[in-house]
Amino acid sequence: MKEKVAVVGAGTAGLIAARDLAAFGIATKVYDQKTRLGYPAKASGIVSINGLNILGIDYKSAATNTLYGARIHAGNAVMRIMSKKPQARVLDREKLNLVCYDEAVDRGAVVQTGLKMDNQRIDELHKDNIIIGADGPLSAVAKHFSMGSIKKYTLTYKADFNVDVGDARVVDLFFDNSIAPKFFAWLCPNAKDILEVGIGVDAKYGNSKTAFERFVKMKEVRDQLEKGRMLDGYASIIPMRTARRVVEAEKEVLLVGDAAGQVKPTTGGGIVFGGSAAMLAARVIHEHIKLGTSLERYEKLFRKSFGTDMKLHSVLNKIYANVNEKRLEALINISKTLGFENFLSNYGDMDRPSVMLKRFFLRGLEK
Ligand SMILES: Cc1cc2nc3c(=O)[nH]c(=O)nc-3n(C[C@H](O)[C@H](O)[C@H](O)COP(=O)(O)OP(=O)(O)OC[C@H]3O[C@@H](n4cnc5c(N)ncnc54)[C@H](O)[C@@H]3O)c2cc1C
Repeated sequence: MKEKVAVVGAGTAGLIAARDLAAFGIATKVYDQKTRLGYPAKASGIVSINGLNILGIDYKSAATNTLYGARIHAGNAVMRIMSKKPQARVLDREKLNLVCYDEAVDRGAVVQTGLKMDNQRIDELHKDNIIIGADGPLSAVAKHFSMGSIKKYTLTYKADFNVDVGDARVVDLFFDNSIAPKFFAWLCPNAKDILEVGIGVDAKYGNSKTAFERFVKMKEVRDQLEKGRMLDGYASIIPMRTARRVVEAEKEVLLVGDAAGQVKPTTGGGIVFGGSAAMLAARVIHEHIKLGTSLERYEKLFRKSFGTDMKLHSVLNKIYANVNEKRLEALINISKTLGFENFLSNYGDMDRPSVMLKRFFLRGLEK
């Protein structure tokens, strides 16, 4: 049995796995192709406070804003969800990576940057290491060990604008399949003077940059960006389905984070799910080395802990992806009449819809 771990990819998921493995006293080395980790930040950083607490990251130095709610737009309808308590932090993704790096290295993990892992290097590492593939949505590890490529993607484009944000406590989400097919567009106050504008489109429906250019011409968006200066812009991708397998126990290979498609299909958020799965993977590897238990437990425990919520996110995504704007607008208006605005303001949980549903069935829509 192998007793060392090689983690391919030093994003949040890989570094969280390395942090926990090193804390268990397991020799762990992380490899990343980048020389400057977390840069450029092609993704956003809205993460629930509950989720961040679960991950146990000391994220404060990376936080740039705090969100209390969201405005959900569909056609002319707007649903306002506003909590009295802070719900999410907006994090600078490069700084978050650095915090995760420090936490992993402080516990004894070694990180080698500037080394792209190809098939030959992966084979070399695999001779005497358990492998964790944490190398993002186009995982070389998943491909190398035939763990099934992720077939469904959202293409994204986002840019920061230097503007006076106004109310920096809320994020605006725009659901309109003619602008952002099968996903959504967003305006997120990254700070009081930085508004992030972003969009995702189903990969089958074309180009995220073109969709972005259409979105910024919409009146509500144009009004907010007036006189604003665009600072940078990046395209990227979000995996929309979990990998067919997240572990090959015989081969001692595990996938975590975007490499495993551990992302909420409703919002594209992957830091909490991917990081939680990385913590689980580290625990299963620790027990495997110490007690001889099978690595297959990672697959079972992952599906048991996150399967229901992943399915619920997937169902919600399918619902709004297949409804036209008029129906979406009507759905929002009906939900408001039924009292969902209050319910979501009081009990909304951006990571775990199953927790919300439990409350819903126990208490209904009363306050
Ligand atoms: C536009 C956009 C907005 C998003 N917004 C949010 C959000 O608000 N909240 C949220 O929670 N999530 C969000 N996400 C999702 C989130 O960014 C990802 O789920 C998360 O970054 C996944 O982390 P990871 O460590 O699995 O992968 P990554 O962050 O992609 O890290 C993978 C690492 O592997 C390295 N690598 C890849 N291939 C190799 C190789 N062959 N050899 C060596 N190194 C390699 C890369 O350099 C990289 O450092 C967003 C994503 C996008 C695209």
